[in-house]
This record gives sequence, structure tokens and C-alpha cells, in this order.
Amino acid sequence: MRGGAPIMKILVANLGSTSFKYRLFDMADEKVLARGGIERIGSPQSKWFVEVAGQREESTVAAKDHAVAVRLCLQQLTDKKCLASPKELAAIGFKAVHAKGITGVHRVDEAVLQAMEAYNDVAPAHNPPYVTAMRLLANESPEIPLVAAFETGFHETIPAAHKYYAVPREWADKHGIKRWGFHGASHRYIAERATKLVGNADAKIISCHLGGSSSLCAIKAGKSQANSLGMSPQTGLPHNNRVGDFDVFALPALMRATGKTLPQILDDLANRSGLEGLSGKSNDLRDVEIAALAGDGNARLALDVFVAAVRHYLGAYLLLLGGADAIVFTGGIGENSVTMRDAICRDLAWFGIRLDAAKNGLAKGEARIDAADSRVQMWIMPTNEELIVARQSRDCLAACV
Ligand code: ADP
Repeated sequence: MRGGAPIMKILVANLGSTSFKYRLFDMADEKVLARGGIERIGSPQSKWFVEVAGQREESTVAAKDHAVAVRLCLQQLTDKKCLASPKELAAIGFKAVHAKGITGVHRVDEAVLQAMEAYNDVAPAHNPPYVTAMRLLANESPEIPLVAAFETGFHETIPAAHKYYAVPREWADKHGIKRWGFHGASHRYIAERATKLVGNADAKIISCHLGGSSSLCAIKAGKSQANSLGMSPQTGLPHNNRVGDFDVFALPALMRATGKTLPQILDDLANRSGLEGLSGKSNDLRDVEIAALAGDGNARLALDVFVAAVRHYLGAYLLLLGGADAIVFTGGIGENSVTMRDAICRDLAWFGIRLDAAKNGLAKGEARIDAADSRVQMWIMPTNEELIVARQSRDCLAACV
């Protein structure tokens, strides 16, 4: 006990195809006790770091898969005395992505794992590593509750007009082929924080999460009204190496022209498209920006396509919401790229949207960047997906008792 509140430690795990990031929370006061991660999983030189009380340690290790990474994390947290043993964890919460027929927050059991596996090919970069790590933990430490907080959960409030594709009706009802939306933990955090900062419970917010994966979300009164991601995390805006919106009738033409099979082309769309595919340079926006500045035409095109796609959804969501009280930029690109924010907001004065160039150029952390005569508040806001998942995991445990 501390200050009367029971100490409840929750580890939040955020997995990418070759990365594993975590934060350990004490939910008595939502304090982060430790954070860490491993990158380049699968390489003999996987890089790890762990940070406790402002002290950072980093090195390399051979982490051949996510199972090794998760074991290393639990070992480090025990060695650093953040945990007496892994059994001290009240739960491990996962920022899980997609599962067939399941959304919201769930204790992980065989049914949840099988529903995730059923969508391995819908979310190929995300579901397989999550299932591997969850199965490992369920086998090795069955006493630690595992909670899956699905990214689709925040978007359950999206009205039907923005949820359905114009396909035969039973595809949606029988097979779940609809716009589920993703990035739910991030957009939920922005919805809560921006609504509070605007000071109006009914605030209209457009959340722009621009990073390795990117999406826009229209929010009213704290609830999702539309998200640019659809049935899969490959849709909407162009991503680092994933395609974004695409016409499926290009597929047969591509298969004939290239001799590739459908799985091969889907692999190209999910791994060699987006910023990387168009620029032919890199999946990292910083590299693409440097190449464009040096005069590389393909890099310039990749940036222009990205900006055009963001503005496309921004315009759509301004109409959908009937204007906006605030536009928020978050994610690695949204928080850090002065030039992307500037390009996205260019010539929008007619809509009451005006950036302050100096504030945009200098802002760090959570900051307002709108000009004095902007009708719409403009914010940079570091998101906190882990905190949302920790809270959801705590609430799920409480509901299950
Ligand atoms: P993920 O979606 O994998 O969590 P992030 O939100 O960390 O990714 O965003 C990664 C992206 O952010 C990369 O494309 C990277 O280039 C971009 N980024 C990070 N820092 C900067 C910066 N200072 N300027 C421009 N882009 C940046």
C-alpha cells in the first residue's frame, strides 16, 4: 500500500513486427515505474534499452523472436527490482490490433487467440507477433492475467454511414467486412485530452496521428465518428511501407503484368509501398524529407502524396463534423515534422485554420501552434497509448472479478 491506495502493477506491451516496447505502471497513481524496449528482433544484434527513475541502460543481445524479447523484459524488470517477480504483475495489457468478430477489451484466452490468428493475413505486421508473445506468456506464466485492448474498440461509436463499404450487405454482417478503424488507444487519449483542453464536453476534434502508421479520426463529444483506417491497418493514408487507400481492381491487372501471385502482390502492398514504395528511398519520413530537399523527384512525390491524403481526410472530417474546435497532431511525424504540419495546413484560412509559423517551428511537447486569428485551435500533443491500455486493463480486471 502507498498513501492508502493498493499498489497495482500493470505492464503494457506494444509490439511491432520487429520491435517490442513496454511500460510498467503503478496504477495507484498511474506512475511509470520503468520503460524499455527491444528493436531489430530477429537480428543477432537486437538493440534493447531500459529506463528506471531517469537512468537509461542500453546494449545489444541476440533476440531471435518476440518470445526471447518478452523473457528479457521480465528478467530486466526483476533484476532492477521494479518487480519482486513477474507474479507481482496484476496484468499484462496488450495494445492488440485486430481479431475476427471481437473488439473492445478482453482477457486473453484460447478463443481470443484464435480470433486474432484468423486475421493474421488482415494485419500481417501486427497480429502474428502479438499471438506469439501472448501464447508464450500464457504457457510460461499462466498466473499473470493477459488483457487484449483492441485498437478497434474506440471506433465502435462510428455511425453506420461511415462504417459500411458499399458491398453486398451480408459481407458486413456475416463476415465483418467493414471499416473497423484502428489507432484506437491513441485517438482515445487525444479525444480525452483535447476535449478537456478545449473546455467543452461536446468539442469537435480532428486527431491526426501521423507516424509509422498514420490515420485521422473525427471526434465529437469524446467519441469517434470516423477513422481513415478501414477493414485493415493497411488502408487510409499512405503509411511507412504500407499502401493506404488503393483500388482493388488494379490487382488482376498487376498479377497479369508482373506474373506475381495475389499473396506476393499483397506482400508488396503491405511491405514495399507507402512512403518507401513511392520514394524508393526509405520508410522513414526524415530520410524522405532530406532526399526531397536534395532534389530527388520521387521523394518529393512521396511527400506530396502523403500531404494530399492527409488534406483529403481533413477536408472530409471538417464537413462531417461541421467544422472543428481543434486539430491535433500526434505520432512521430505529427509531433516532429514542422514541414509536414506546415504543408498540411497551408491555405486553409477560409476554414478558420491558421498555423503560427514561429510556434510551429519551435514547439516541443504539448503545445498550441495556432495563430492569434485562427478560429480553430491547433495543437501538438504527444499521445499516450500505453496509459490508455493500462487503464483499460485495470478496468477489465475489475469487471472480471
Ligand atoms: P510508429 O507508428 O511505428 O509508432 P512513430 O509514431 O514513432 O511510429 O513515427 C515514426 C515516424 O516519425 C518515422 O517516419 C519518422 O521518420 C518520423 N519522425 C520521427 N522524428 C521525426 C522528426 N524529427 N522529423 C520528421 N519525422 C520524424
